[in-house]
Amino acid sequence: MKKLLFSLALIISCIACNNNPKNEAKVDQPTREKKSEQNEPTFGIVIHGGAGTILKENMTPEKEEAYKTKLKEAIAVGHEILKNGGTSLEAVQKTINVLENSPLFNAGKGAVFTNAGTNELDASIMDGSNLNAGAVAGVTVVKNPINLAMEVMLNSPHVLLSGKGAEQFAKERNLEIVESQYFYTEDRFKALEQVKEKEKSTASFYDPTIKDSKYGTVGCVALDKNGNLAAGTSTGGMTNKKWNRIGDSPIIGAGTYANNATCAVSSTGWGEYFIRGMVAHDISAMMEYKEVSLKEATDQVIQKKLTELGGTGGIIAIDYRGNVSMEFNTPGMYRAAMNAEGELTIGIYKE
Ligand code: ASP
Repeated sequence: MKKLLFSLALIISCIACNNNPKNEAKVDQPTREKKSEQNEPTFGIVIHGGAGTILKENMTPEKEEAYKTKLKEAIAVGHEILKNGGTSLEAVQKTINVLENSPLFNAGKGAVFTNAGTNELDASIMDGSNLNAGAVAGVTVVKNPINLAMEVMLNSPHVLLSGKGAEQFAKERNLEIVESQYFYTEDRFKALEQVKEKEKSTASFYDPTIKDSKYGTVGCVALDKNGNLAAGTSTGGMTNKKWNRIGDSPIIGAGTYANNATCAVSSTGWGEYFIRGMVAHDISAMMEYKEVSLKEATDQVIQKKLTELGGTGGIIAIDYRGNVSMEFNTPGMYRAAMNAEGELTIGIYKE
């Protein structure tokens, strides 16, 4: 009888397991080098604040300083979490929160405007230890979309929620809800008016030469002391987007990807090309199947594949050993990286 009950329990748990799409097996982790003789495991974090036509001649020293200060503030938050043994997921989420709460970036508070004069936000997050992921698209009242993406990953059976349903889920999970007015910023609204004006004479819905028209999406990738990788991306999308357009940022494999066996990637740029090129996953796949280095994989995917497709933008990535790549084919990308020793690399333009 006991035996029968045990077999029954085993069968039921197997069925439950197969019915849950979020029940991923752990990813095999390659062995990592130790940071020092004290056998301290290494860790690291990288962030971006968008790629595009960011030119020194269009920048004032004050504006440049403001961006750098915010990037430093954000990366310090994630670095502290990792240094204290926190998870890469938490580091990614909390770091992105700082950038989402700043009007400087096209995510959260500083989101760009749609053609209808509204703000529709997208975000995604991925856990490299089990390939679990969560994403949201087209949310209009959620203060920090990356927190909602995290909730989708951890507390729903789904990966991607959109629009009103995603907002209902945010309310059920007690996330912070704001009036849609919260996302109004004058610079972004002016950019919409300019793009609309330009649109009358060009066929494109977006003009990369217009200041503030697009760039400013934020992303973060991190490796924690346990060897777990995580990646996250949050954005307002592209100025003047229509018809509930969704970009690459909430698309797992395009805007965000993480796998402990390879690397964690967050993308920024003209989203349609990143979706068509499956950019973030492609980098991971090159490492996995061709066994090339992170540097080689990111260079190949951004400078060759994406560029030949006609796409513009860049990525930040970190691999399971803590190697970092910040690759872009635009004049600039707001970016910063910090290693386990606390050494900071920060940049805006192509050096
Ligand atoms: N990739 C984002 C999108 O297409 C925009 C950006 O990164 O600048 O929605």
